[in-house]
Amino acid sequence: MSARRDAMWASLHGSFDLVVVGGGVTGCGIARDAARRGLRVALVEMDDFAFGTSSRSSKLVHGGLRYLEQYEFNLVFEAVSERRILMDIAPHLVRPLGFLFPVYADSRHKLWFINAGMWVYDGLSLFRSPKRHESMDTKALLKEEPLLERPGLKGASLYYDCATDDARITLENALDAVSEGACVCSYAKVVGFKNDAAGRVSGVEVQDRVTGEKRVLEATAVVNATGPWTDKTLALSSQGPKRPLLRPTKGVHIVVDHAALPLSHAVLCMHPDDGRVMFVIPWGEQTYIGTTDTDEVDDPSEVRASAEDVTYILDVIHAHFPTVTLTPDHVISTWAGLRPLISEAPAPGESQEESSVSREHQIVVGQDGLVTIAGGKLTTYRRMAAEVVDTVIKLLRLSDRLPEGLDGAKTDEEPLPGAVGWPIDDDRLQVSRRVQKAAKGLLNETSAALLTDTYGMRAMDVARLMVASPELAEPVVEGRPEVMAQVAWAVDMELAGEVSDIFIRRTQLFFRDRDQGLSGVERVGRYLASKLDWSDERRAASEQDYRDEVALSRSWRG
Ligand code: FAD
Repeated sequence: MSARRDAMWASLHGSFDLVVVGGGVTGCGIARDAARRGLRVALVEMDDFAFGTSSRSSKLVHGGLRYLEQYEFNLVFEAVSERRILMDIAPHLVRPLGFLFPVYADSRHKLWFINAGMWVYDGLSLFRSPKRHESMDTKALLKEEPLLERPGLKGASLYYDCATDDARITLENALDAVSEGACVCSYAKVVGFKNDAAGRVSGVEVQDRVTGEKRVLEATAVVNATGPWTDKTLALSSQGPKRPLLRPTKGVHIVVDHAALPLSHAVLCMHPDDGRVMFVIPWGEQTYIGTTDTDEVDDPSEVRASAEDVTYILDVIHAHFPTVTLTPDHVISTWAGLRPLISEAPAPGESQEESSVSREHQIVVGQDGLVTIAGGKLTTYRRMAAEVVDTVIKLLRLSDRLPEGLDGAKTDEEPLPGAVGWPIDDDRLQVSRRVQKAAKGLLNETSAALLTDTYGMRAMDVARLMVASPELAEPVVEGRPEVMAQVAWAVDMELAGEVSDIFIRRTQLFFRDRDQGLSGVERVGRYLASKLDWSDERRAASEQDYRDEVALSRSWRG
């Protein structure tokens, strides 16, 4: 394990004001907020940060346009406000992206209606959306996106939301919590709860996934932020739920080369079979398409794309871009995640459509005092986290153990670590040039831009690692822009401890490389082994775990 992660495990003992279970974006957001309010916080994650849904989303920070159709203006208002805040506190990670909403003669709504909706959407953001929407006639639209299906095309609305890197937002919350004094430990699984004489949860039993060692942490409050594992975690408590709190649904994305589907905007497409909204999202040299929405009962750790999921996604492309031919051979990678949706038990005799399941969150305080946060979305994680910490503080007050001097966490103002010093004019190119300069000729333009997009201002520190050790300028995978300095940085500074952490959540090689980074596995394994003093067996096991992850993501091929 990373020396830094092991130091976390070493300091993970004794008693805390708050123990957070789960290191997805929700848990890491809670840890950041609580640590900034002065609570003594521990967060334990059974795998790597963002191992669950928080690295498997559509990677969008969005206002939830579809809520407008259901007149859920408050939800949209909340989400567009959070979008603005995240653009301010993490401009390196939350970037405006134009979305085309094409309208056809047989579309559910006419173009004027869509445009009216866009005025409301922009209005709810108090006209502080990344850019104001525009209406496009067919000619202008086809100039922008000539591959679109033409018969019946009436034009489009171009509106703006944001693209992000979900795993990095999660990680930066964890790192900020650490710098505010929280103890944040990965590969540490909660295997049980401890209760006091009155039956209240008073701690957790946690197990080091690497050594098997177990220990008990005492806590005044415990939060269950385990996303799709929520019900499994509740089942560990003496007062497990009477019925499941969640009804998870699976969402799959596929990645293809941008050249195979060369779009310049993200495009909203209705699926030809069921009219569901799907997104096609240009992603640098790649394009990804998603998502499906099907009920899922499998273990959240094993969730994966099926052959049917991939066919369903390819069908939407062929329906909307008839001159494009995508076959399963074009698919570079897939990812699948579970939406931790709140279960709304249907009335007797009624069934429930997956797409009508609520996406809002719920905070539930059990009779044993265990606080569970369920549901929500990436975009609103910060607000959810603040609500959870408010709830915890109320509980602490009840139990008369409120720490002195608590004040607001200001998570809406304080930048995430990579945003500290980011230029006010958002001039990414200028930062990228400074990064290249800091690397003293060891970084090309593409790699400098990649580091800037990934680490924000901290890219400068990554570049300096290369100056100190020029061998770190080598690529992780031949021919690609990711460099070994990123691996060094991940181990030293970002609590990475396994080969999978590097390929899936510290870089995006798993998703973007034609061979999902497999040709770089031994290089990374050797590097980790030398830094972390691993035996040959330990290195081989970590490398194999990554190969198994890749195999799972490819199992749809049969
Ligand atoms: P998770 O990220 O799943 O985190 C839970 C963590 O708990 C996991 O890391 C797990 O390892 C850990 N854990 C479980 N059990 C234990 C234990 N016993 N001990 C310790 N740790 C444990 N939202 C948006 O805003 N924009 C989008 O574009 C978007 N797209 C989505 C697309 C899909 C396909 C899906 C599935 C979701 C999408 N969402 C989106 C929703 C968003 O991704 C989720 O709401 C969010 O990531 C949930 O985060 P979480 O922290 O609650 O759960």
